Formats: sequence, C-alpha cells, structure tokens
Amino acid sequence: MLEKTVLYFKLAAYILNIIQEELGRATRTAWVHRRARWFGPPAPPSRDRNIVIVGASFAGNRVAQLLTACLAPNSPYKVVVIEPNSHFQFSWVLPRLCVVEGHEHKAFIPYGGNVHDNPTGVLRWVRDRVVGITGDSVQLQGSGETIQYDFLVIATGSGVEKGLPSRVNATDKREGMELMRNVQKTIKTANTVVVVGGGAAGVEIATDIQNLYPSKSVILVHSREAVMNRFGEGLQKAALDGLQSLGVEVILHDRLIQDAPRPGMVLLKSGREIQCDLIVDCTGQRPSSDILSELSSASISPSGHLRVKPTLQLADEKFPNIYACGDVADTKTPNPNARSAMRQASIVAENILSIVTGGKPQHKYENNWSDGVIKLTLGLTKSITHYGDGKSELLFPGKETDEALMAAMCWSRMGQKPFDDPYMGVESNGSVINGVA
Ligand SMILES: Cc1cc2nc3c(=O)[nH]c(=O)nc-3n(C[C@H](O)[C@H](O)[C@H](O)COP(=O)(O)OP(=O)(O)OC[C@H]3O[C@@H](n4cnc5c(N)ncnc54)[C@H](O)[C@@H]3O)c2cc1C
Repeated sequence: MLEKTVLYFKLAAYILNIIQEELGRATRTAWVHRRARWFGPPAPPSRDRNIVIVGASFAGNRVAQLLTACLAPNSPYKVVVIEPNSHFQFSWVLPRLCVVEGHEHKAFIPYGGNVHDNPTGVLRWVRDRVVGITGDSVQLQGSGETIQYDFLVIATGSGVEKGLPSRVNATDKREGMELMRNVQKTIKTANTVVVVGGGAAGVEIATDIQNLYPSKSVILVHSREAVMNRFGEGLQKAALDGLQSLGVEVILHDRLIQDAPRPGMVLLKSGREIQCDLIVDCTGQRPSSDILSELSSASISPSGHLRVKPTLQLADEKFPNIYACGDVADTKTPNPNARSAMRQASIVAENILSIVTGGKPQHKYENNWSDGVIKLTLGLTKSITHYGDGKSELLFPGKETDEALMAAMCWSRMGQKPFDDPYMGVESNGSVINGVA
C-alpha cells in the first residue's frame, strides 16, 4: 500500500517536472528571440556552420524543434535535418491501423508544423538518407551530396527488416498507406493468424484482430514466460487476461523455428505444428546504427546501440561533437519509448546550445522509470495504462472510443491540424507499390 502511494507521488512529481521543463524552455525561447529583436546585431550573411541531425522521428524532430527555436537569430549555425520519409511516421498506431480500415493516412503526419525555418536560414530540411559518416561530414544516398558538420546528432532509431506492423519500411506516405491496406486485406481474408512476439505490438494486433474478427483463430506465440515480460507482473497478467478473454490462444516459452515446413503450416521449437494462413511478425527491432560502423565501430554495442556518455556525446573520445539520442542510443533505459527519446533529445539540444554560446556540455541524461509509462490496448475498446518503478506498479483500465487511438493528439503535437495534408492532394510520385513482404 505504502509503495503504491509513493508511486502516485512519483508520478505526480514526474508530470510536474515535465510541465516545469516545458515552461522553462518556452520562456527561454521567447527570450532568445525578443532579445535578438531588441538588441541583437543583424543575422550573419550566411549561416555557414552546420548542426546536422540524422533522422527526424521523436528524437531528431525534437532536437530540430528546440535548436531552431533557441539558436539566436544572429547565430552562424544552421540546423540541417536529413530524413528520408516524406512524413513523420507515427509508430504507436501502426498495429491498430494495419487491422482497422480507413485511417491509414492518420499514421503519416506532415513535417513542418513544429520545426520552422524561422528566422530565415536557420533550417535546411533534406529528404534523403545518410549512408556514410566521416569525422566532419555525412554523405547522402540519393543526391550523393556531402554535407559538412560542426555537430552531428544521430537519431536514426530502430527498425525491422519485415516492416509492418511495427515499422512502415516505405518512405512515401501513399506507398506506406498502400502497404497498410495490403496488411488489412491479408488479415481480413485469413482464417488462422499466428502473431509472433508478445511485446506491445504483438499483444495489440492480436487483440485487435480477434476483436474485429471473432470467428478467426488468432494464436500468439511468445518466446518468454509471460507476454509484456519487460514490464511488471500486473501488466503481464492484465495483458494475458485481455488476450484470452477475447479468445486469442497464447503460446508461451516457444518460438517459430521455420516459417513454412509445408505450405500453410508453421513449426514451433516444441515440435507443435500449426496450420495457418498468415504470420504477423512483431519481433526483430534493431537499432539503426550501421552508418557509424566505419567511423567508430567501437561505439556500437553488441546489441547494435550506440555507446554514449551521460551527456549523450558518443562514448568514443575522438568524437566529442557527435551525439546520439532515442532508440539508437545505449542509455540503459528499461523500456525505451517516445518519451525517453524526446527527453534525450532535449539534453542533446541543451548541450549543443550551451557549447555554441561558449559553454560546456553539462546536461546529463538520467533514466527515469516514469518514462516507461505505457498505454496498452486490449482490443478495440479497452486499454490498460501501466506505470511502474521496477518494484511496484499502478494499473489504470480505460475505455477507448477512437479507432485511430492517439493519432489526432500526435498531429496536434506536431503542429498540424488533424488530418489536413496538402500532400494528399498531389499525385504520388509514381513509385511502384509492392505487396506486403
Ligand atoms: C508498433 C510500435 C508501437 C509503439 N508504441 C509506443 C507508445 O505507445 N508509446 C511510446 O512512448 N512509444 C511507443 N513506441 C516506441 C517509439 O515509437 C520509439 O521509442 C520511438 O519511435 C523512438 O524514436 P526515435 O526518434 O529514436 O527513432 P525512430 O522512431 O525509430 O525514428 C528514426 C528516424 O530516423 C530515420 N533514419 C533512419 N536511418 C536513417 C538514415 N541513415 N538517414 C536519415 N534518416 C534515417 C528514420 O526514417 C526515422 O524517421 C512504439 C514503437 C512501435 C514500433
């Protein structure tokens, strides 16, 4: 009982702290701009020093948002964002929108709502992919351009080879939407679906499929002793109850060893064979750290994460001007998520701002259990929010009324009106749309 009370206080303190940090930042930003307008010298003729950010999802977009807002208007630095995706891809809703039809467009949010080229010249946005990094430049895949950097922020997150339902693996919005529709169709026509992986994505998509199509047979296979094994026992039990009450068969401590011993069959390590017509793979996320392998292979941990100092500079002392944040960074965060990615982004932005104004990188990232708070959907109308500190946990059951979950909130947080997208009025660039891998 006492532990739970302490947890409530910790949660309240965490929320207050976030509000305080946000207010502090907003005040500092307003002050930077006002001071420059009143007293500052004019902007330099060209901003010829680059802060290059690779990847613009939760982490990279947040670094760009803070830097463009807080760099003094007369600073010689500009922010260069390099991101291959046409839109911000909102990962949280991907499992749901691979099942429920008609909302695919909501997972792709236009960029430019909360990162602006204001004052003019402070931002260069490049739609491309970084394929190589040297000690002072990055190389782009599409244009072949080499861009020099004074500071580099690696925010390349994580990915999965097989794409949906965990990641889109298409850079264009229309192509991504088509891939989602293909998944919806294959789910709709399958009789028996095997979902692999009992983390959040696996539990959510299994419960959604079973809820929307009660006559289908949905089987969840997970290699560990419990679903949601990285979280507390209370959430593990609630997730299992949610799955089983909808009729999902849950197989624990077993794994697929072969995709198809015979057509329409999967074989598990235990020897069990399951007849099925669709496998939905929710495993295999890996940090996207390969781009650093030539410059500093020692910075890549066995798990593929980038080793960083508490300041989020690379641990490799040779590169004090390279930072990493978000899913790609090895920060020992118990359950890395968008909140921890954005908190790390703030630390990176604060440190770079400190250096460019003559200071030192003094801000340090510390894990906070509260970052790991998670809302897990258990079918179309139920959810459970979990907050724990490794010793004790709080569970808040909830009712879900919006099929697209938190998509509208994310559009607003990205500075966009839900779900207005001028891009959708423009014909696609003609790229070939393939079926689901
Ligand atoms: C299905 C699913 C559901 C989730 N649900 C939640 C949730 O409910 N709550 C929560 O807090 N978290 C959730 N998460 C976790 C959250 O999405 C991640 O923690 C978060 O996306 C990490 O953000 P990031 O910016 O570090 O990396 P990512 O989101 O992985 O983004 C990396 C970005 O870098 C770009 N990039 C990669 N390589 C290159 C390159 N070479 N050059 C240029 N750009 C590159 C990519 O295009 C991408 O835009 C979920 C994740 C998944 C997969």
